[in-house]
Amino acid sequence: MSFSGTGAWLRSDHEQLEMNRFSKIIIVGVVAVAVTYLLSGDHRVVASVIVAALCLAFVTRGTLSVQSAILCPARSTVPGQCVALTYDDGPDPETTPALLDLLRDRGAKATFFLIGDRVREHPDLARRIVDEGHAIGNHSQAHGLWTNFYSPARLRRELEACQDTIEEATGVRPALYRPPFGLVNHAVQPTIRALDLELLGWTVRSWDTIGWSVERITKRIGRRLSARDIVLLHDGGQDRERVLALTSNLIALAEGKNLELVTAPDSKHDREEQ
Ligand SMILES: [Zn+2]
Repeated sequence: MSFSGTGAWLRSDHEQLEMNRFSKIIIVGVVAVAVTYLLSGDHRVVASVIVAALCLAFVTRGTLSVQSAILCPARSTVPGQCVALTYDDGPDPETTPALLDLLRDRGAKATFFLIGDRVREHPDLARRIVDEGHAIGNHSQAHGLWTNFYSPARLRRELEACQDTIEEATGVRPALYRPPFGLVNHAVQPTIRALDLELLGWTVRSWDTIGWSVERITKRIGRRLSARDIVLLHDGGQDRERVLALTSNLIALAEGKNLELVTAPDSKHDREEQ
């Protein structure tokens, strides 16, 4: 099994029976520290501390980076001469309708990672997203600050509630999950496997929530954007005019590079198309 994980889908029966990646890393790490301690002679303490620190850095990278696929298999690219714009944290009554108008007028498709509580407040908006041909994904029910510290059982309840809320509003049960704040932990892999969800990361982070100007963000993305990229954006809780200006710029950038804007694919649709 590869830890690179992007592009290839790891949904075989073999994968279903496999130990979680987190458990494997912990076992390998403990063995590596023990072996280093036993074999390092006079420098055994320093050497084993270094190995332990490297293991910790590896797990930390897996926690902070969905697309590293270290702690859970993740898809972070789209096939072909295409790019996927993905919007987190909606639906937002101020921003999402205008964004949908813009996408429709420019002939672009996108993917929306919806928060269950916001779908409950604005089910009509979630329905409109689906009706207009965009993809939707699970972004947790409440988007709590401590989601990454939930036990597997609590995370499952959280994600299942979001699945139910979105299905009730739209008739569609999401196949994709993006964790709040993009953080992954030991509970994610078994939970999304049980709920038949797949993790979707990104290749281009827009940093649209930290106050940079639209021009600065556009310039930065313009230098990076190429075929197969997934761009991380936000519509929920964001200034509408900024979201519209940035999206308009990204559509123009994609058009200039002959890239089609598509929804993020998932394995269920891959199978249906075969
Ligand atoms: Zn979010």
